[in-house]
Amino acid sequence: MLDTSPFLVRHGSPAGLARRDPHSNQGFEGGKAEGKAALEPLSARLSELQTALWAESGQSLLIVLQAMDTGGKDGTIRNVFMGVNPQGVRVWGFGAPTEEELAHDYLWRIHDHTPANGGITIFNRSHYEDVLVVRVKDLVPESRWQKRYAHIVDFERLLSDEGTTVVKLFLHISKEEQRSRLEARLQEADKRWKFNPGDLEDRKLWDDFQEAYEEAITRTSTEQAPWYVVPADRKWYRDLAVASILIETLERMDPRYPPEPDLDGVVVE
Ligand code: AMP
Ligand code: MG
Repeated sequence: MLDTSPFLVRHGSPAGLARRDPHSNQGFEGGKAEGKAALEPLSARLSELQTALWAESGQSLLIVLQAMDTGGKDGTIRNVFMGVNPQGVRVWGFGAPTEEELAHDYLWRIHDHTPANGGITIFNRSHYEDVLVVRVKDLVPESRWQKRYAHIVDFERLLSDEGTTVVKLFLHISKEEQRSRLEARLQEADKRWKFNPGDLEDRKLWDDFQEAYEEAITRTSTEQAPWYVVPADRKWYRDLAVASILIETLERMDPRYPPEPDLDGVVVE
């Protein structure tokens, strides 16, 4: 387990993205091979906790994953949840809203996909896009998106009051790392399918996106729905950090197996 406190954005403190090192491997002695090996017991622990959550069926966990393009959301989900029973875990991706979604308030499409008791749901992008890409690309006037930070805090408080723990992860990559990942997508045949020319347009807006992330994370990191900024230039370190944060979160939720039925004298014929 990594010490997760360096990643936590405390309520009322700035996210401080510019002074956080995306290449950090703080608190881990060793390189990629050791890092990958260290993930295995963490995956096993996550799996145990998920099984207990499922058996208890009295509360749920929502994991919000946000990152710049190529930030590693898909890889994180794949690596960290490799050993977890797919039955209890759902992944929901949010792309550009449909016409029907746009005809509603921006949280309408979100609430439908929050986890039920016993479940874990991972949001691959989320309602945060409505204060990120929407802000950067001027998709609604500022007078509208400015009010959303407060809605989001209230919405997440509602979830948490009703039994859904919310944990939010920003996979923090550097602009140089994004360049090399985009180049890899152009050059490597098995990665080309991931290349989206639109990502190059978004890259030009890098600073605007960082500013939007800085403000969103700063204004919505609360006790009940904290943000963690995960150094994500090294994929293996990112995976260790995410697994550690999730284990800590689930341990705090402390899922309990239901009381065993009285099985004295029961025989299988
Ligand atoms: P991907 O995650 O690569 O599948 O891309 C999904 C795209 O949908 C990204 O370019 C997001 O910026 C975009 N997107 C997600 N949510 C919204 C939103 N609420 N408004 C506009 N665009 C969005
Ligand atoms: Mg994109």
